[in-house]
Amino acid sequence: MVKLLDIIGQDPAVALLQRRIATGRMGHALMFTGPHGVGRRTTALALAGALLCESPQKIPNNGEISELDDNFELTDACGQCNDCKTLTAGTHPDLGVIAKELAAHHPAPEVRNRKMQNLGIGVIKHFLLKSAYLAPARGKGKVFIVREAELMTPIAQNALLKTLEEPPPGVTIILLCRRSEQMLPTTISRCHTVQFGPLPSDFVTDRLAREEIDPDEAKFWAAFTDGSVGRALSLARSDMYAVKCDMLDELAALGPGGDAGLGERLQKITEARAIAAVKAAKSADKAELSKMLATRQATGTMLELIASAFRDAISLAAGADRPLVNADQHGAVESIARKHSMRQLTGAIEQLSNYEQLLWRNVSPKIVWDNVVLACAAG
Ligand SMILES: [Zn+2]
Repeated sequence: MVKLLDIIGQDPAVALLQRRIATGRMGHALMFTGPHGVGRRTTALALAGALLCESPQKIPNNGEISELDDNFELTDACGQCNDCKTLTAGTHPDLGVIAKELAAHHPAPEVRNRKMQNLGIGVIKHFLLKSAYLAPARGKGKVFIVREAELMTPIAQNALLKTLEEPPPGVTIILLCRRSEQMLPTTISRCHTVQFGPLPSDFVTDRLAREEIDPDEAKFWAAFTDGSVGRALSLARSDMYAVKCDMLDELAALGPGGDAGLGERLQKITEARAIAAVKAAKSADKAELSKMLATRQATGTMLELIASAFRDAISLAAGADRPLVNADQHGAVESIARKHSMRQLTGAIEQLSNYEQLLWRNVSPKIVWDNVVLACAAG
């Protein structure tokens, strides 16, 4: 199991949690906010360990966490007791991880058969509220972690309010969401917010290096994902890097008339990636991913990659002292910067974000890609 003191790169958040454990003011409702893939879920699980462990350890800080005094006594799970063992195995009876995918295991067919795009009241009532009011199976308390809490419907959030405000004794509820403002104000006001920041880019590159990702590629994903190790890992594992390199080379080589075949080629690449994503989701037994949603997500990532190169081109053209995200393709970025005026570069970035929104309004991907190529062609 990952322990609280194994969490790297999130010292302010861990310090805050440690202070709360030490003063006995853990608060029953916490909201962990921050970008995807920076360790919110891992920290929530580690905190559950510290709270549910039969014999938690007390360790003097000794410079471990710079925000806390050296003689501060840190609390962490022991890693060896029965609680810790079942937490590691994911079978602890007093830990509930709530996610929209649980709908598939709901007893009522009308909840089971709903599209799992949000976290509805059915799941919250059955898997959280009902269980929260039952006595803990092992005596120490209960922890519920709600993943993607921003997907909770307003009705589900309202149903949870009373329990957030006054949970049964020993119950801790941790809501994970990207930004607190995605939640209802009434939910926010009942939770202690713990903010998670982006991870240092060295941490992300080191983590990718452990997966034997080439250093240039690792540096690129660390910069592109802005310190989200989760997203960087998933992009690196999906072999997206070669696609991005080829795509930027082709876009950098575009002449004023564009390239009639490029839009179609990019569209086909995106479609192939979407099909692969659907297959991967199926084999990982995640919620069913529709091909349409997968296509939109894949296109969104490709457009984001292009936009990163155009942003780099703006930095170069403006002589800004900022390291390029696409430092691995300096030549391509330079060529884009040379061929466009500053106005065209900013215009292209704006259009790329418009095209991403068009996808959600059912405009065909082929039309979107043809337009993207035109937007990126030299003016
Ligand atoms: Zn333990």
